[in-house]
Amino acid sequence: MKSIQKYKFDEIEVFQFSFKLPGAIKLGVHLFYIDGLLIDTGPSRLRKEILQTINSLSVRQIFVTHHHEDHSGNLKQLQLIFKCPIYATPSCCLMMKKPPPISLSQKIYWGERPPFFDLTPKDNKIETDNFCFEIIPTPGHAVDMAVLYEPTKRWLFVADLYVSYTINYFLESEGMAQQIDSIKKVLELDWDFMFCSHNPNIKCGRNELESKLKFLEKFYADVAELYQQGLTARQIFSKLNFKEDWAVKLSSGGNLSKMNMVKAVIRDEGRKA
Ligand SMILES: [Zn+2]
Repeated sequence: MKSIQKYKFDEIEVFQFSFKLPGAIKLGVHLFYIDGLLIDTGPSRLRKEILQTINSLSVRQIFVTHHHEDHSGNLKQLQLIFKCPIYATPSCCLMMKKPPPISLSQKIYWGERPPFFDLTPKDNKIETDNFCFEIIPTPGHAVDMAVLYEPTKRWLFVADLYVSYTINYFLESEGMAQQIDSIKKVLELDWDFMFCSHNPNIKCGRNELESKLKFLEKFYADVAELYQQGLTARQIFSKLNFKEDWAVKLSSGGNLSKMNMVKAVIRDEGRKA
């Protein structure tokens, strides 16, 4: 079952596309359209709904926040419709030429993420007729991820930097210390309104992101302390009474897990040594 919701906040048009597979959790993404700029392209699984909805907009440029398949699944199709430049960070442009393979479950949930060779690297700002968005690199969740900051309107488009104030699973490729640093970096900016790709939380964004920072810092400190005492990842997991969310772990084919969060901290601590 698929659904589409649209609303406006200030000059921003927000589009929520969601779906639910039988027996699975509801998943969704948000795309944002402001003054000719489209942020992200959504997953290929929702291609028909996205193209039908976005078709009527006058998109003159697109920014892709990172290479994950729920953000980059419709690059070619949107470029064919709008014939406009598609920007991304230099590292995202490189990754999209030969994106990492995606698992069967990622394919089932979000759909294919084919390579794309026509991204234009941008690492400073995106200008529209009325606004100027600073591109802020925020690696951690993905090495190539960036957020867009509009200082006059005090908007922050955070891609997947927030998602929720507690996080119970990571991909194997996610970095914990980097993610903490990226959140600290954007909290130093002067913004009031947060637009997250999965959970916009527009008006309480700052409090929510601060809560997430506290949560990740405590998680890091707890794991690092036991690691320094010589415990293994498994021993740390059990000592801290962590539990896997098996619905998430199984439905992601093992790609998403809490153990990945523990291992991310251990990797960061190992680099310090
Ligand atoms: Zn992502």
